[in-house]
Amino acid sequence: MYSQLKEYKYKDIYRFLSIVQESVEEEVGFWNFNEEMFADAATKFNKTSLLDIYITTTLFNYYHREFRKNGDCIENDEIERWIEIMKVYGIHPNIEYDEDADDASLVWFNKNVEHFENLFEKISPELVHILFNDKQFLFKFNCLLQDVIKDENKDYNIPWPEGSLNGDGTIKRQAIPKWVKNAVYHRDKGHCVFCCKDLSGLVNILKQSNYDHIIPLKQFGTNDPCNIQLTCEECNKRKGAQVKMPKYKYQSWW
Ligand SMILES: [Zn+2]
Repeated sequence: MYSQLKEYKYKDIYRFLSIVQESVEEEVGFWNFNEEMFADAATKFNKTSLLDIYITTTLFNYYHREFRKNGDCIENDEIERWIEIMKVYGIHPNIEYDEDADDASLVWFNKNVEHFENLFEKISPELVHILFNDKQFLFKFNCLLQDVIKDENKDYNIPWPEGSLNGDGTIKRQAIPKWVKNAVYHRDKGHCVFCCKDLSGLVNILKQSNYDHIIPLKQFGTNDPCNIQLTCEECNKRKGAQVKMPKYKYQSWW
């Protein structure tokens, strides 16, 4: 089991994390993303989750814009820092950088597009590990997803797999796999996210736990691991197909 433990490779991960958090906070939706991967991840539980897709495209779009718009302000040592980060993740970027050329940093970025994509894909699981714990973030993220699934203004062209949608455009229900239940149970520490009732059976003999969609499928929610939460039977019934914010309580360590 311990061989499955992953190492945080990059010490400065919170810089990337804050870009993703801010992006969700400011309701920056999905753009310039792989629609096929999105359709697959939204309709069936996938270990490369919709959050992974959001993280990788958001970071790429953010830095692409930085290099495009503020390229003049990007100094040599920043390029060196990127090269260092990539090396930490076993990526070998093109290191030719002509600092006297016009748009030098953008030229360098464009030479390394694939390496940047690769870097953000490798960083993503580390960010997901942190963000999966943040219920407030997940709720807002799932609201952003709702807009893509609903697609009221026909902004997207998602290639939905045949038979994956209902007539009203909502996503069909899929059985929640064991690995998702396991992760959600441990994240929510065996407690109902609404009333905080213990569902572990340790201090409460009624241990009916329900795995509930944060944004219900009927409200254009997804079959994504990041859209599942643990609830008790009563709260689950009371919630039904409504969208309800979970409680953001935590227990202090001391
Ligand atoms: Zn409850």
